[in-house]
Order: sequence, then structure tokens, then C-alpha cells
Amino acid sequence: MSDSMQVDRSDFDRVMVPNYAPVDMVPVRGLGSRLWDQQGRDYIDLAGGIAVNALGHAHPGLVEALTEQAGKLWHVSNVLTNEPALRLAAKLIEATFAEKVFFANSGAEANEAAFKLARRWAHETAGPDKHEIIACTNSFHGRTLFTVSVGGQPKYSQGFGPAIEGISHVPYNDLTALEQLMSARTCAVVIEPIQGEGGVIPATDAYLQGVRALCDKHNALLIFDEVQSGMGRTGKLFAYMHSGVVPDILTSAKSLGGGFPIAAMLTSDRIAQHFGVGTHGSTYGGNPLGCAVAERVLDIVNTPELLQGVDARHQLLAEGLMALSAEFPVFEQIRGRGLLIGAVLTEAWRGRARDIQEAAQRHGLLVLQAGPDVMRLAPSLVIPEADIREALQRLRAALASLAG
Ligand SMILES: *Cc1c(COP(=O)(O)O)cnc(C)c1O
Repeated sequence: MSDSMQVDRSDFDRVMVPNYAPVDMVPVRGLGSRLWDQQGRDYIDLAGGIAVNALGHAHPGLVEALTEQAGKLWHVSNVLTNEPALRLAAKLIEATFAEKVFFANSGAEANEAAFKLARRWAHETAGPDKHEIIACTNSFHGRTLFTVSVGGQPKYSQGFGPAIEGISHVPYNDLTALEQLMSARTCAVVIEPIQGEGGVIPATDAYLQGVRALCDKHNALLIFDEVQSGMGRTGKLFAYMHSGVVPDILTSAKSLGGGFPIAAMLTSDRIAQHFGVGTHGSTYGGNPLGCAVAERVLDIVNTPELLQGVDARHQLLAEGLMALSAEFPVFEQIRGRGLLIGAVLTEAWRGRARDIQEAAQRHGLLVLQAGPDVMRLAPSLVIPEADIREALQRLRAALASLAG
């Protein structure tokens, strides 16, 4: 084994557990919104590592933050605290509703912490009967057993033994359905302000306001899963800031680390106190490397210039997609917000999101799907205008190859 050991995509099936089906190329280098594969072919990246690479690849500010911290201190565990974690927590508190922060390493772990905290809070303030968690059909909250159980896509929880109890699902954006299910037994309601994996579907402001009112009425916690929608993705630091509806717990991951694995759960003093010493933890959570990178991401993302740039880039992409659709009747609706965009396929193209993704890759463009009927884009928040224009040309060529 050495650096010079030759590997390629065909090795994947030999050495990896077969739970993924990666596309047919191996990227080896990235810069900004471009990636290069083993053959030196370039790709424009509108996938952004699934809404993670908020500042593109190898952003100089993030490389600097990472390498500076790498020469100082990587890991100490939570037996000790560290400066980057304390600074990042203080900045997240300053920028949001939160008064306390818990760090984890992935979106699923941040949600796991949120659900456990909600249950602990309810158990200590109202007793064991108040444990029911209500989530939405088609929602996605991660892949641990608790988070697939809360998630509203049964295919992710089936076949893994007895499910976690006390969880039910209601249709998204349907206040009446939620109202009928809520009671004194409800401990928390979990919402993605924009359903990402479920098809890039935004919640309406009226729905979020109604959910908040129902949570207040039944003394239940409102949890916003902003793992995908947060950290500038929608043109505000967090998507909840568009609606003015403030949650009790918010989870962030993906763009938070800009590519370094880190996640955070934000909450108030009142709720945080129910995670007393020893109740929950993570060996890596809040490690200095991850926190140093995320602190730099937050410094760069949470500025008016960057956030306004997200709106401008949305405009450019949405107009370009509609123009393509005038040529090939492929998209019937462009939805989402900022740089979390879902292009909904028309009847004639329904079910072909994977075909579009593969054709785009053959034409030097990376896009995502959100289910079989939606092409999803989640590029860098600072993708240059020229890359957006070039990406639209490559998408045009990809669509032409499929239409022809
Ligand atoms: C991606 C995602 C998660 C899971 O995050 P991981 O880092 O993969 O564990 C949870 N919730 C939402 C809304 C997501 O988009």
C-alpha cells in the first residue's frame, strides 16, 4: 500500500459495502465550482456535495483556517473544551435565536440530539406520557435508527427491526392534519422549512406560523431541521428567518462545515438545561479542526454581500432553467429558495431525473436529483456567474442528447 497504488471506479464494487451507486468517474481535485476527474476532465459542480460545499472547493479562507488549526490542535475530546468550539458557539448564538449550542459530526447526529433532548425535556417537565414526536410525510432527517424512524420515507426504516415508538407522520404543509394529531402527549413537531430530499418543497409561511401556534397551545417543542436549508443556502443565514417563525431547537450540518464534517444543535437556555452533565455526548463533537473551519464558513457566509449574492444567483439559474424549458419542455416548475433549487419535471419527462443526472455528467456537469421527478441544484453560494452560464450550456447539451 502506498500513494502510488492505482485505484478507479471499478474498485468500488470490490472494496465497498454496496449501499451507494456512485457515478462513473472519480474526482481527484476541486477548485471553486469546478471538479476534475482522474482523466483530467472538468465538471461544473451544481451539486455542491449535496448542499455541503457552501464556498466551493478549496476555498482559500477555509484552507487557511483548516491548515492553521491543523498545526495547533486537532482533537482533545469533551473532557476538555477548546477555543474554536467556544468561538463558533458564541457566533452562532449571536447570529440566531439560540442561547446554547451542542456540536455533533453529522446532520443525523444533530437531529438525534434534538429528538433526545425534546424527549428528555418532556419527560422531566411533564412525565413519560409526553413523548410523541410528529414529523412530516416524505421528510428526511438522517440515517440513524431514530432519525429514519422520524423521517417520513418508510423505505429508509423498513427491514431494520422494531421501529422506535411514539412517532407519527402528517402531510407537509397541511395544518389541519397536524391539528388533529396534536395533544398533550405531543413532545415535539419536526419540520424542514424546505423539504430537501423530499423534492425541494418549501413550507408556506402560514403553515410555519400555524405549526408554531399549535406547538405553543399543546406545550410541544418546535424543531426545525435546517441541515440542508441553513447556513446561507436560501439567502438568509437560516431559512426560518424568512418566515419570522422561531423554533425551540434548530439543527445545522451540511454547509456548516463547508465540507468538513461538523453539525450543531441550537436551542434556548430553558430547554438546554435538560441535557445535564452525562446525559448525552460525542467523542468528536466540537473538535477544534471542525469548529475552526465552521467558524470561518460562518464569518464568510453571514455577510449581507454574500447573502444577496445567493438571491442574484438564484435569479440567474431560475431564468436559465425556464429558458431551457422553453426549448425542451422539461421543467414545469422551478421551486425552492436561494441556491436550493428544485426543477420539477413535466409529465413527458417524469421519472427521468436520474437520466438527466447521468447525461449531465457525460456533458461535464454535476447535478442532483430529489426523487425521480425533480432535478435538484445546490451549488456553492459563491459560484461565479460565468460558471452558471457555462453550466446552463452544458445542461442544454445534455437535454438535447436525451431529447434527440
Ligand atoms: C442531509 C440531511 C440530514 C442528514 O445529514 P447527515 O449529515 O447525512 O447525517 C438530515 N436532515 C436533512 C434535512 C438533510 O438534508
